[in-house]
Amino acid sequence: MGAGVVIAGAGQAGFQCAFSLRTEGYDGPITLIGEEDWLPYQRPPLSKGCLSGKTDLDAIALRPAAYFQANRIALRMGRRVESINRLGLRVILDDGGEVGYEYLVLATGCRNRVLAGMEGVSYLRTREEAAALMDRLETAETVTVIGGGFIGLEVAAAAAGHGRRVTVVEPQARLMQRAVGPIISEYFRAMHARHGVRILLGTTAAGLEGDMVVAGIGVTPRTELAEAAGLAVGNGIVVNAQLRTEDERIFAIGDCAAFPSRFARGMARLESVQNAVDQGRCVAAAICGRGADYAAVPWFWTDQFEAKLQMTGLSNGFDEQVVRGDLESGKFSVCYFREGRLIAMDSLNRPGDHLAGRKLLAGSGAVTPEQAADLSFDLR
Ligand code: ADP
Repeated sequence: MGAGVVIAGAGQAGFQCAFSLRTEGYDGPITLIGEEDWLPYQRPPLSKGCLSGKTDLDAIALRPAAYFQANRIALRMGRRVESINRLGLRVILDDGGEVGYEYLVLATGCRNRVLAGMEGVSYLRTREEAAALMDRLETAETVTVIGGGFIGLEVAAAAAGHGRRVTVVEPQARLMQRAVGPIISEYFRAMHARHGVRILLGTTAAGLEGDMVVAGIGVTPRTELAEAAGLAVGNGIVVNAQLRTEDERIFAIGDCAAFPSRFARGMARLESVQNAVDQGRCVAAAICGRGADYAAVPWFWTDQFEAKLQMTGLSNGFDEQVVRGDLESGKFSVCYFREGRLIAMDSLNRPGDHLAGRKLLAGSGAVTPEQAADLSFDLR
């Protein structure tokens, strides 16, 4: 038997790759290495259900320990891959141990950007950080959130839900501007204001005071392992359409991977569960000899107060937008077009539109702005 598959990083993407290898019929050894001490777990609940008190931290494991045993997936938790010996086809761990591979999958994810020179700031990425945040929330009267992106706003909504006085400080002119269009940004600003959250746009925090400060200012991909091994990195570990690095035995998947995407009209790096899962599957299939170009339609979601926002496609660079439904009702979709073609849709409490949007984007996006805006037109 060969040396098998080694997966560096046991988040959603790494887990999925191991899982899919087995469902695809891979029979060799699989080693899943993760630096956190917990069984692989889902991250979305950390800033959503767990923080608002609806989901227990103990309920987020992706699978129980027995699953890994039964499926012969060797879990090495609390361990980090320190380096890659490409010629020797081995990874070296932080305890000096080595594991040989036939294929290596890098699923190293991202790390939070941090505010230089500011002490006492909380961040949210790991289960431990979520637990610490929940503790601090219990006694804090006021919460200041730095960064009005997804994480910052989900934290703000949860804190406001616990009755805390919350302020969000965002340097850009609108909320979540990396990912959504201006209509959605404004809707969320007004919604947070309605719930008593103070939103300061175009504002930078110069210093800190108050009893609790949380920063959600974005992430950077963890590329250092790949870089030290001589692999190309940019905004992420650079891979081709089949998610292979320039070393044909090494793949990269999930938040850490920069891959060619027709939705981005160039290289994309996506931070989403969908992308982690679909790329994990894609690489598992490739290792089993059923390689195909990665072509999945991107989709994301966020939960804040009563709003469930589901996004599909990438709206950056749209030249036309239409609203389907009406803003007042809290149920509408914004459809984004470029040169007459649908490129993305943000749906608020309209899950049917979201699913139809994903289907349309998987095909040719053949719907006109007039049709999209017409509620009597069936998007399916
Ligand atoms: P995440 O998904 O981690 O929330 P986003 O990119 O969606 O990441 O949001 C990060 C937000 O933080 C953006 O709105 C960005 O403008 C803001 N931001 C980035 N750097 C800073 C900073 N130094 N101080 C305050 N806000 C920042």
